[in-house]
Amino acid sequence: MKKVAIIGSGVAGLACARRLAADPSLKITIFDKGRHPGGRLASRDRDHNQFDYGAQYFTARSMEFKSVVSRMIEVGAVKIWNGRFGRMTSSGIMDEDSQEARYVGVPCMRSLAEAQARDLAGVLDLRQHHKVTEIEKVSGFWTLSGEMTGGEKAAPFEENEFDCLVITVPPVQAAELWRNQEKTLEGSVLSPCIATMFSFDSPLPVEYDGIRIDDPVLAWAARDSSKPGRPAGERWVLHANPEWSQENISLSEQETLDALLARFFHLLEVDAVAPSFSRYHRWRYALVTRALEAQFLIDKENEPILAFCGDYCEGARVEAAFLSGHTLAEKLLDDQA
Ligand SMILES: Cc1cc2nc3c(=O)[nH]c(=O)nc-3n(C[C@H](O)[C@H](O)[C@H](O)COP(=O)(O)OP(=O)(O)OC[C@H]3O[C@@H](n4cnc5c(N)ncnc54)[C@H](O)[C@@H]3O)c2cc1C
Repeated sequence: MKKVAIIGSGVAGLACARRLAADPSLKITIFDKGRHPGGRLASRDRDHNQFDYGAQYFTARSMEFKSVVSRMIEVGAVKIWNGRFGRMTSSGIMDEDSQEARYVGVPCMRSLAEAQARDLAGVLDLRQHHKVTEIEKVSGFWTLSGEMTGGEKAAPFEENEFDCLVITVPPVQAAELWRNQEKTLEGSVLSPCIATMFSFDSPLPVEYDGIRIDDPVLAWAARDSSKPGRPAGERWVLHANPEWSQENISLSEQETLDALLARFFHLLEVDAVAPSFSRYHRWRYALVTRALEAQFLIDKENEPILAFCGDYCEGARVEAAFLSGHTLAEKLLDDQA
């Protein structure tokens, strides 16, 4: 194992690269179709209407992840979100009792991924805007082909022969790349989530900064502007619940925005106010509702090595994605020792 390719620069792909980088003899390349690293650690930060529209915050329970989070705090890419958190049911809102620290990327969630990529500069060849559409074995190596996204002119997929390939994309997309593992990958399920973003000219009269909601329409509401290191303003992110998201995935943007905002005002008993900015994002594969219950997957029938990792192996959390990538890398390093 000398040259390793990883498809996906989300949490799992970066965790895998970070651990593999302990072996300086390895050349590690990540291909990702997106503009920025981070995957579902996604943020809109083009102007002051800045939002985290994927993962909202994360917790750290394992020693391995705690140590990465400490490093990210040290470089200023992560802080604790000291908001007020509640849970809303049909009987009203109550404060959440969990005292666990809720961490966020600074100045946006994606910063966690960007800081990790910066830490690996010089070791990692990170190729954003590379959408992989096919993988194949040629003369004992993996080769990848695909297309450049984002209108880049550069020649795609150069220097493209690898002794080891790690796929970290969500399972349905992973199965499209490698049909042999379709049955196993189908053991996990990711539900969709429609995320909406709203800016307001003045603060809304809501006492909470993050609210988990048991409701047929909404699952989560967050005052995004209350997170540390964000631009001033009043900005809210609302997530529809998985069932509503599934049923309404084809609704127009305006209809979706109207429906979720109206529901939010109704549930919080707030007078309706027109937002100064609004957007939506439809996640087809957002949250793991059934995990594989394996930390990672290695396709034993393949030489050179083919492996899979991602949150879908362990659960719907940033830390699960990290641990999946990290433990896979440990296994690969052990196997070649
Ligand atoms: C709306 C939402 C809210 C969430 N809230 C929370 C939360 O509050 N707390 C929490 O802990 N977790 C939360 N999560 C879950 C968390 O974001 C994920 O568990 C974690 O980010 C998954 O990381 P990953 O690396 O496994 O996958 P991903 O982040 O999906 O990474 C996969 C990467 O592969 C790339 N890719 C896909 N196909 C290709 C291809 N063909 N070629 C090249 N690249 C490709 C993608 O661009 C992406 O960057 C949330 C997720 C969503 C969507």
